[in-house]
Amino acid sequence: MNTLNLFKIYKMFESEDGLKINANVLEQLQEWNLIPREGQYLCARGHPLKLLECTASSDGFVWRCRKISKSGKQVRTCNQQISLRKNTFFDRSRLSMVKLIAFSYFWLKNVTQDFIIDELSITRPTAVDWCNFCREVVYDGMVVKGREIGGVGSIVEIDESKFGRRKYHRGHAVEGQWVFGGVERGTNKCFLVPVEKRDKETLLAVIKNWILPNTTIVSDFWKVSLMPKCPYMCI
Ligand SMILES: [Zn+2]
Repeated sequence: MNTLNLFKIYKMFESEDGLKINANVLEQLQEWNLIPREGQYLCARGHPLKLLECTASSDGFVWRCRKISKSGKQVRTCNQQISLRKNTFFDRSRLSMVKLIAFSYFWLKNVTQDFIIDELSITRPTAVDWCNFCREVVYDGMVVKGREIGGVGSIVEIDESKFGRRKYHRGHAVEGQWVFGGVERGTNKCFLVPVEKRDKETLLAVIKNWILPNTTIVSDFWKVSLMPKCPYMCI
């Protein structure tokens, strides 16, 4: 969502409430891997489902099976139907898709919850619920389903950061969790790992776990001398 902004979101949905989506939105959501492409999703009988317009559905589209079967003179269409949101990022919300996309965009931009509530006209419990969900999605994608990055010819930038609340009356002291992470240049594949200690052994273990050998590692805090026999090039 690097180059996304609010105008682009509204233009994509062609309206601010955007209850019904259009074919362009479908295409964009598929490009972002937020909904499957045709052919990836099967009905209960194993036929590939098609995305079809449906005025009765709140989003304006449903997955439907159009498989025709003949037995004798009888011709039947399978017609099994599944919600567009089933098993997707949007599954557990009733908010319109434009609001969910805008919410996620705001969340990534780190704006306040009050700002989101005002802009999207949603209730506080809804905002809290979706914030938690966004956090779970990021955790799941980066920690649970994360995979090793880097490899021959690739460059990974590593960094460490402390996540948490800034304490009032205590200057810049932050209570929270140290997190160690890396991003692969060009692909933006990344990992984030919470760490208890920030010593050489801990960080090296995380690196070996998450970064493939022969990767060039770029870091502001890392010193080449930390790893005399390391399988990485550090700059
Ligand atoms: Zn079917």
